Amino acid sequence: MSSARQTASRDSLGWGASSRGRKPRAAPPRAARELTDLAAGGTAGEFDLVGSADQLAARLDVARRSFPEDPEGALAITIAACEWADGNQAATLIARGRTIEGHIHLHRGDTRRAMARALEAERLLDDVDEYSAVAGCELAALQAQVAFFTGAYAQALAGAERAIGLADACGEPDLRIFARRCATLVLGNVAVEGFDRRLDETLELARASGNLWEQALTHNDIAVHHESNGRVQQARRSIELALELAQQSQPNAFALAVIHATRAEIELRADDPARALAEASRSLALIAAVERPNPYLLGATVRAEVVARMQLGQYEHARQAGEGALTLLGERMPHTRSMILAAVAAALREAGQPEQAYEMLLRSAELEREAFTEITELRIGLERAVAQASRASCESRALAEKNRELARAHAELERRAGQLEQLQEQLLDQADRDWLTGVHNRRFLARKLAGPAGDDAATLLSVAVVDLDHFKEVNDRHGHSVGDRVLVRAADLMCGVLRTSDTVVRSGGEEFLVLMPLTDPDAAVQCAERIRIAIAREPWSQIAAGLTLTASVGVATSAGADDLDQLIRLADARLYAAKHGGRDRVVAA
Ligand code: GH3
Ligand code: MG
Ligand code: MG
Repeated sequence: MSSARQTASRDSLGWGASSRGRKPRAAPPRAARELTDLAAGGTAGEFDLVGSADQLAARLDVARRSFPEDPEGALAITIAACEWADGNQAATLIARGRTIEGHIHLHRGDTRRAMARALEAERLLDDVDEYSAVAGCELAALQAQVAFFTGAYAQALAGAERAIGLADACGEPDLRIFARRCATLVLGNVAVEGFDRRLDETLELARASGNLWEQALTHNDIAVHHESNGRVQQARRSIELALELAQQSQPNAFALAVIHATRAEIELRADDPARALAEASRSLALIAAVERPNPYLLGATVRAEVVARMQLGQYEHARQAGEGALTLLGERMPHTRSMILAAVAAALREAGQPEQAYEMLLRSAELEREAFTEITELRIGLERAVAQASRASCESRALAEKNRELARAHAELERRAGQLEQLQEQLLDQADRDWLTGVHNRRFLARKLAGPAGDDAATLLSVAVVDLDHFKEVNDRHGHSVGDRVLVRAADLMCGVLRTSDTVVRSGGEEFLVLMPLTDPDAAVQCAERIRIAIAREPWSQIAAGLTLTASVGVATSAGADDLDQLIRLADARLYAAKHGGRDRVVAA
């Protein structure tokens, strides 16, 4: 009696259910209580969600664990968590909140909303720098189930495997069980190879973590698997274990509803409609106590009830059961409603009411079409989302490449601007330098003289005018090129005996001006003497045989009052005196 579709319905029950219909504020459901237990100082009944990101993550873990039994409470956590995270810009936590919300919507049969939440979460996670395996796993598990319900089985399988892979990489026991529970829906219905092994693995993890609820649901899944393969006795043994464990776990209304529904299926398979009816009724009593029951669970259980009643000859009751379920489902789940109507139609036909049966079948077909349209729309939405996501990632890749290109171009531009600046400085400096000796030139001096009287004018400054003696003779005897080499060497000698703060200017053919800031008269004379001695003692014969050279120096010092021009003229006058005094000497006063 169990088709793949029905198995799908019942497996999906494993992760869906509802609260007892209480308002969370009036009496906090389990998830909210766990939440407040977690929040230090939080009082029961209040959603005190101000805390650290770690605390928030822990609360989302609670919502993920508890939503099948308490969707209302779990939803309250996700909403409050997203509000908190929104204010704190914690995109990963918002994505997790949206994802868990999506799981809750799916649990209530709202595939459309579930898909919207999954898309939202995916976009948020795309923009996050640090990838979270937990968020990724929860999202993959949701995407897998949404894909499954819209008939995109390849995507569903890929998502299921991704969720398990991420959970295992993360290593968190609860997450590993969660990923497997979500994957069971897909893997079981697609009937992947080694599905039994995977169920055993889930059971092992649930046992290791001591989680009775998860153990019960896994035994239920194992029972469903046995039943759909015709192994009634093994299915019965597994469902007994499931029941025992579920009874020890609190809260357990959803788990028990699932288990009794599976039991009804098993008894139908065992040709015991009376026991099947009893089990279906137990399950329905639990389901009816919930405000928005899990539609997959409701549909599968009602179908079992209708079939059982028909086998017992209770055609009218079968019809009533079906109609009742349709009322409960309202506008939701056209496929489930169509399935129920088909079962009712069969009941009516058996009851000898072929016209009404025909009427029912027409309604069923109409709903089937509606369901098909809904699934097609969702499917198109899903495909569009996948296409958009891949285009967005292409665009963002292209954008990133553009940015890198821009950065490279910018760096190159900066490098060139730097080079240009250096070149400009070099050119400026070159213009201020004497081409032959490399010391400063008259242009530099002229700028210095024309420029604003800097610190030099205000403070102590000495100048020395150095003139090579009888230089004309050097040219005359040894030639102009020797003369040039002598000039170069003489400039080097001067620079060598001066401080770096001093400046040498070639002010005329064989005449140099030395500017010595912060130099008193005595020190200036000493400097001038060093220049004179360096020139006199230089082995000039290395440049030209028999060559000797001396220099005369005139020195002047200003305490800041005189201008530079005047100071130079004074030093010049003293140079004149040095020449007249016999050359090769320094005159300072
Ligand atoms: P004094 O001791 O009185 O200074 O005698 P002097 O010969 O050094 O002075 P004078 O002004 O008569 O001669 C300067 C000479 O310097 C004339 C010129 O040929 C030479 N001179 C000027 N500029 C250069 C130059 O760039 N290279 C060479 N080789 N000689 C130059
Ligand atoms: Mg001279
Ligand atoms: Mg001269």
